[in-house]
Amino acid sequence: MNRTYYGKLIFELSRPGRVGYSLPKCEFEAYKLESLDGTLLRQTATLLPEVDELTVVRHYTNMSNNNFGVDTGFYPLGSCTMKYNPKLNEELCQLPGFNQHPITPARYAQGSLKLYDEVQKTLAEIAGLSRFTLNPYAGAHGELTGLMVIRQYHISRGDTKRIKIIVPDSAHGTNPASAAVCGLQIVEVKSTADGTVDVEDLRPLLGPDIAGMMMTNPNTLGLFETKIPEIARLVHECGGLMYYDGANLNPMLGVCRPGDMGFDVMHINLHKTFSTPHGGGGPGSGPVGVRQGLEQFLPNPQVINNGDGTYRLQCDENSLGYISFFLGNFGIIIRAYAYLLSLGKENIPMAGKLSVLNANYIKESLRSHYKLPIDVECKHEFVFDGLREEYGGDHHDPEHVTTLDVAKRLLDYGFHAPTIYFPLLFHEAMMIEPTETESKETLDDFIAVMKRIAEEAKADPALLKSAPHDTPVRRMDDVKAVKEPKFTYKAL
Ligand SMILES: *Cc1c(COP(=O)(O)O)cnc(C)c1O
Repeated sequence: MNRTYYGKLIFELSRPGRVGYSLPKCEFEAYKLESLDGTLLRQTATLLPEVDELTVVRHYTNMSNNNFGVDTGFYPLGSCTMKYNPKLNEELCQLPGFNQHPITPARYAQGSLKLYDEVQKTLAEIAGLSRFTLNPYAGAHGELTGLMVIRQYHISRGDTKRIKIIVPDSAHGTNPASAAVCGLQIVEVKSTADGTVDVEDLRPLLGPDIAGMMMTNPNTLGLFETKIPEIARLVHECGGLMYYDGANLNPMLGVCRPGDMGFDVMHINLHKTFSTPHGGGGPGSGPVGVRQGLEQFLPNPQVINNGDGTYRLQCDENSLGYISFFLGNFGIIIRAYAYLLSLGKENIPMAGKLSVLNANYIKESLRSHYKLPIDVECKHEFVFDGLREEYGGDHHDPEHVTTLDVAKRLLDYGFHAPTIYFPLLFHEAMMIEPTETESKETLDDFIAVMKRIAEEAKADPALLKSAPHDTPVRRMDDVKAVKEPKFTYKAL
């Protein structure tokens, strides 16, 4: 990092008259400034930074070095699977044959349609469902699509009174948000002390106005919902459908299938589970799968395999309609295809098992220093409730070292922070997901640093309270950022 450029906007580096280029003299009379119609010329100069070439190169290079991503360091963000994206996939998704105009007629896009069909078929097999659409652009978009399938199913049977959807209190925030966008009323079901859905709390909620229930499994605490067979039976008996949030499906890959557990509709995040990371809000892909009997409600158009090596696009009159332009974020679908093929059927179960092993390894290694509120074997992620009392984490002490302090201190050591203060079930939640793709050395480094931070919290809490020390920007005033956001920069 260089002081001259560091933390400055390119406008602040600007000096009047400074140029970083040299162009040949214009030889054509008609294009010379003097020859142009004066009324077309602007009266004031554009506000562009005036900088020399080295300054502009260093400015952007330094800025790019300020990015943190899976390509620069460990990213244990729970509930948001940030695993690496094999570079091979980047090459493959740029093969010239896939560079097609979105309205290319189906007969000239047979290769792309074949790839789409193979991805949807593979996902259907992994999920134990009948058919997928790859059209939705994100997980939340998939949730909306899946809920619209459920609504369409009830409407098709003339059952129009089902206006409520059950969502557990531990659900990802997009679940109730998508349900509200779909026009459904949200009914919350509580979790028991062991972190799974409380069946006794569920029973009285069920009735003829229930469209279905959304569940995440493993749930957002990283726990396997063991009572699913009973829950699915109860919801089906009352006439509702079961929705599975499969945004983070990696622990289940090749091990068990939502369709076999009794789920009717689900979405998967290709940009979490199938190789593409998703920092900064996109791009994403949220395929939606349905069990047999619900296929006709999926969005238009569907890609249909004619069975003779050719493919067509088909629209169904029972469909919920269009959910996106064309066939979704195709580049992400190609990356997922490359990932699926490179693992192959025999190696896909390794992804699930390794993600579970890695999470449990970190959990068991750090429980001596951090509070573990739910002490069971986790799946791909788990939640600590801040530092243990003996390391300064006593919640009742107003001066206690918080999860935010630990997260900020982690940045000084070159790690991305875990998800913090989510789920809302614990005061000092710290949700860690290592994913299946990290080496043991990386996990050990992270464990050592987390322990060291706990020791620092005990010996010198001020060190954590004032962290981060080594980042371009120190600790933000989160409240001010929310209350008085400034999105513009006043040019000098
Ligand atoms: C990420 C996530 C979502 C939403 O996915 P987006 O692509 O961000 O819209 C939904 N549910 C769970 C459990 C998630 O982790």
